[in-house]
Amino acid sequence: MKVSVIGASGKVGGGISFLLANEPYVKELVLISRNKSLNKVKGLREDIYDALAGTRRDCDIFISDDETLKFLDGSDIVIITSGLPRKEGMSRLDLAKVNAKIVGKYAKKVAEICDTKLFIITNPVDVMTYKAYIDSKFERNKVFGLGTHLDSLRFKVEIAKFFGVHIDEVRTRIVGEHGDTMVPLISSTSIGGVPITRFKRFKDLPIKEIIDEVKKKGEKIISLKGGSEFGPAAAVLNVVRSIANNENRLLTLSTYLDGEFGFTDVCAGVPVKVNRDGVEIVTDILFSEKEFEAFKHSVETIKKYCIEVKDI
Ligand code: NAP
Repeated sequence: MKVSVIGASGKVGGGISFLLANEPYVKELVLISRNKSLNKVKGLREDIYDALAGTRRDCDIFISDDETLKFLDGSDIVIITSGLPRKEGMSRLDLAKVNAKIVGKYAKKVAEICDTKLFIITNPVDVMTYKAYIDSKFERNKVFGLGTHLDSLRFKVEIAKFFGVHIDEVRTRIVGEHGDTMVPLISSTSIGGVPITRFKRFKDLPIKEIIDEVKKKGEKIISLKGGSEFGPAAAVLNVVRSIANNENRLLTLSTYLDGEFGFTDVCAGVPVKVNRDGVEIVTDILFSEKEFEAFKHSVETIKKYCIEVKDI
């Protein structure tokens, strides 16, 4: 598999590149950055090669600037992480217009070079996924964003801690916006295959506090160390693995809705099946009435921003 990372000079792009280079199925990795940051990316490549010597993996790493996009052709997946990150006190949606110009420009350029899958990480990720879909004109199964996958992982960790179980025993997902209006699907949450609501201790689970914590996690990491990198990178890896190995995993990613769940012309975090063809929306999961109302509010919030960035 050949994977290209646009924005490799950034924290998240660097973290993703390191993890991907260590994956056995990634044979070629293309690190792309602005001209002014090429040295940083060259340093990243040297560092990763050292690590690969230690882990005894083999991967060819190429470098390109974002003007020529040399080596991008033939990529199975192009990951876009370029864009301004949030500063303390900013919401992800504050970044929408400025980052839409960056993501839209790259989506168009990529589409001129090859037919590929576009995987968007830049925030606000739902709005950026929408912009990438509109501007690339790729089929919608090939354009997806990290959505609420990382939030779902963070939620899972907290549930596992509360019940004192291994994290793999917890199945859960958060849908909607990767942001303040995200919605936890308690009705689809289970521990060891048993619905979470069937546990006696469920009544003591501080769901609101946990969700508030999940919502603020990114900001907390920004204030402590300037931004997250390993968490998003590992979440990205789950998605790339499921594509590479055709795993059909059910993840919660952002993708274009064309009537599903009653919404059109917007991207939001929804359950999708992830395989070699990209993503396929899973619509036959029942939300509770309350969950659906909250999801509706979340999607409508994202949509306002999608409309604003559509033509810029
Ligand atoms: P970062 O370390 O500041 O890196 C930003 C990257 O974007 C760098 O490669 C930078 O290139 C590039 N960039 C900045 N302005 C640009 C412009 N005008 N044109 C082209 N490229 C530009 O930020 P980060 O922490 O990696 O975060 C990157 C993005 O990922 C942010 O939008 C952040 O909010 C998002 N993110 C998403 C998730 C998620 O779950 N979806 C999680 C974490 C972060 P230079 O090196 O040349 O400046």
